[in-house]
Order: sequence, then C-alpha cells, then structure tokens
Amino acid sequence: MTRASDLISSLPTDLWLAGKQTPASTGARFGVLDPATGQKLTSVADATPTDGLRALDHAASAHAMWAATPARERSEILRRAFDLLHSRAEDFALLITLEMGKSLAESRGEVKYGAEFLRWFSEEAVRISGRYSPAPAGTGRILVTKNPVGPVLAITPWNFPLAMGTRKIAPALAAGCTVLVKPAEDTPLTMLLLGQVFADAGLPGGVLSILPTSDAGSLSRPLIADPRLRKVTFTGSTGVGKLLVAEAADRMLRTSMELGGNAPLIVFDDADIDAAVEGTMLAKMRNTGEACTAANRIYVANPVREQFTMKLTARIEALTVGSGTHADTDIGPLINDRQRRTVSALVDDAASKGARIRTGGRVLDGPGFFYSPTVLDEVPHTANLLREEIFGPVAAIVGFDSEETAIAAANDTRFGLASYIFTENLDRAMRVSAALDSGMVGINRGIISDAAAPFGGVKESGFGREGGTEGIEEYLDTKYIALQ
Ligand code: ADP
Repeated sequence: MTRASDLISSLPTDLWLAGKQTPASTGARFGVLDPATGQKLTSVADATPTDGLRALDHAASAHAMWAATPARERSEILRRAFDLLHSRAEDFALLITLEMGKSLAESRGEVKYGAEFLRWFSEEAVRISGRYSPAPAGTGRILVTKNPVGPVLAITPWNFPLAMGTRKIAPALAAGCTVLVKPAEDTPLTMLLLGQVFADAGLPGGVLSILPTSDAGSLSRPLIADPRLRKVTFTGSTGVGKLLVAEAADRMLRTSMELGGNAPLIVFDDADIDAAVEGTMLAKMRNTGEACTAANRIYVANPVREQFTMKLTARIEALTVGSGTHADTDIGPLINDRQRRTVSALVDDAASKGARIRTGGRVLDGPGFFYSPTVLDEVPHTANLLREEIFGPVAAIVGFDSEETAIAAANDTRFGLASYIFTENLDRAMRVSAALDSGMVGINRGIISDAAAPFGGVKESGFGREGGTEGIEEYLDTKYIALQ
C-alpha cells in the first residue's frame, strides 16, 4: 500500500452527525475524484435534506449548552484542535493534494494557514466583550452585550478545502454558535477528516455536523427556511451567493458572503520589476490560479511592460506541471474538466480578439485536468477574461499609460475583493490604495491572506469579513440593555 492509499482507506467518509460518523439516511454515497488522474479516490455519504434537518435538530438542541460553555473552555477546545491538526499536518496536506490537486508544498501552506484560524479564534474566544456607559441625559445606564447568533450553516468551496472551512467554523465556535458545514462536493474528504480532529479535541456532540452532498441546493433550502437556523456563511461564486441571499431574505437571516473576485494587479513604471514578477507569480499562479484573490487582470505601465512580460514569461515557462503528489510539481491540475473548459474558452476568446499568447494556451493531454501555464499580452478590453474570474493559471497582461487610467481600468468591474499594486513610491502606493474599490489591497506583495486580518470584499464580491478581530463579529448579535 502506498501512503496515499493507506490514508484514503483510514478516512472517515460518513456524515458527522452529533459527533458521530453516520451513514446518509438513504445509504447513498457519491464518488470523490483525484483531479490529477480523473480516477475515483473513494466515496462519501451523500446527505439528504432529512439528514440536514437531523443535523439542525442537534445544532438547535446543543446551542444553549454551547453558548453557555465558558469561553475559556471553547477556547481550549479550539486550541487542542489546532495542536491536533498540526500533529496530522502531513496527512491533511496529502489529502488536500489528492482531492483538490494543488502541489504538496502549497497544501502544506494551506494546512498552516487553515490551522491558524483555530489558534487565532481560540485567542479571540476569551475577548468577546460589550460596553457600559451612562446615558448622556442622566436617565439611566447603557449596557451592551454580545451574544452568539445561533445555529450557523457554512457552505464552503473546493479551492481551499481546509482553510475555507476553518475560517468559518473557528469564529462560529469561538462565539458560542453550533455549526453545520456543507463542504464542496469535489473536496469533502478534508472537511470530514477535520471532523475527526474536532471529535478528538473534545468538541461536544451536536455542536458540529459535516454534511457532504451531491445536491447542495436541496440540502440547504429547507435549512435556510427553518426558523431554528440563524445564519448562513458562504464562500463561492457570486451567482450562488445571490441565490442564497435571496433565500435568506425571506427570514431576514444574517448572511456573510465571500464571493468571486476579479483582482487587478498594477505594476507602475517605478516598481522593482523583479519583485513585481515574484509577487505576480504568487498572486497569479498560487493554487493554480484557483483563488478568488488571484490576479485576474495584470495592468503594466507601458514603459516597463515588455521587460516585465519577458521576465514573467520566463518564470512561468519554467514551472513544472504535474500531479501535486510529485515533489517537483509547481502547478497541479485544475479541479475538474468543466473548470478546464471554462479556462480554455476564456483564453481562446482573448486570443480570437487579438491577445498575444506568449506561452501556454493549451489543454494538456490527460489523464487528469491539466492546463498549460499561460501568459497573454496585449489583451484587448473586449476580452471576456477581463470581466470574468479566470480561475486558472493564466496571466492576462494589459498596458497602461497613466496612474488615472490604471485606477479607472482596475475599478471597472462589478467585483471588489483584492487588488495588488507594485511601486517604490510610498505616496503613490497610499494614493492608489485609497482609490481602489476593493476590500483588500496588497502593496508590493502577492499574498495578503492572514488569519489576523479581515478578509472580504465590496461590490459583488460580497460582504462580511473573515479573520482578524472583525471575523468573530459575524457570529455575534448585539444586545442593548437599558438600566434604570
Ligand atoms: P464553483 O462554481 O467554484 O464550484 P459554487 O458557488 O458553485 O462555486 O460552489 C461553492 C459551494 O456552494 C459548494 O459547496 C457548492 O456545493 C455550493 N452550492 C452550489 N450551488 C448551491 C445552491 N444552489 N445552494 C447552496 N449551495 C450551493
């Protein structure tokens, strides 16, 4: 047996219901593929709407107990989960690579990042406070308390199978909420293994349920319609986010939405070009470009455009494409064939409208869903990939002449998640950061995610923040108590 098959055969693959592994009520299961081979890794229980409602029964009845559990105890359970996750870091990294495709080095990075939310929110759990003040008119006193919102439904995507879960589960548990997690159907295994970590960390049964399903809408709709559910937190596409907000509106459910991005990355003519190339490699190629923060549009000042493009192309041509499990792989497969067809169609559209393919631009032979790392230059404004999220290893370069035109082009999108700028001029860095319509700006760096920072967007990239001191607020209601 290889290490991979050993790991797969030892995994929990049933639903986590009330702290226990439980088959789906129908006994149904669905397959999970390795995107590097297109072969089935294993199968997992396929939760039905009935299973969802059973999980909500548990979440609703455990809520009062969990909300009343001393914050220090909630904190210590999260901290134990952090330690346990670290002790199994290599298993988690291999599992992420097997079901999602990214390289092992990147999976190790995700384990570290994903675990950090457990540690950060174990620290935040004991710092939930309110305030007290005398009423200005002298007529009484104002007491403000923060209370857990209640049972939470968390729906997560496949691109960071661990971190997108811990980013929601950790603050919800820290705040005193019970949680139902619906992982993406492409990557349910990592979340099911995380369920084991929480069980081992001593999380009481019923506080956390994990419900993989092949039919997300059928599972989530009755939950969202049920008055016992009090919050939906979602990371995924803007289309599904809008649908969930519409469903939640009927009950005025609280929602947090981390949706699509269309990040601009601007390289000014005063940038350190080598640093800008390295930053672009991270902002663009990390996670095979499958990140909502990925640089989708690369605007480069015309005087340095050719120099930047040549250097970036050389770096991208040197990347090794292959199964994420191979030690020398930089770029793994895309998640599935549908995603690869989307990326391929976006590149073909740009090329047909006049973009120059400097390298790549090809679907690679199977097995597996590989696409060649690609650089497009002179991308015309009509190209679809300047408006839509690429979600693949494709760098699209557009030249610009002035700071004003770069800012206008960067903001010309319905999205507003991340932006990146490269410049050695501090005044310009601050001026442009202020002018960009996005929830996050990276200055001279290609990675901005940090458990201690508020992650989130504006415009159609959604609302709500994950991480930082802001992250726990998404799971707390404010109550004002008037004291005579
Ligand atoms: P992507 O297109 O990148 O897969 P999605 O927004 O479709 O992104 O998926 C993100 C998450 O949303 C996944 O867990 C998926 O199962 C879930 N999802 C998809 N459609 C719905 C829906 N109609 N209702 C609830 N969840 C959904």
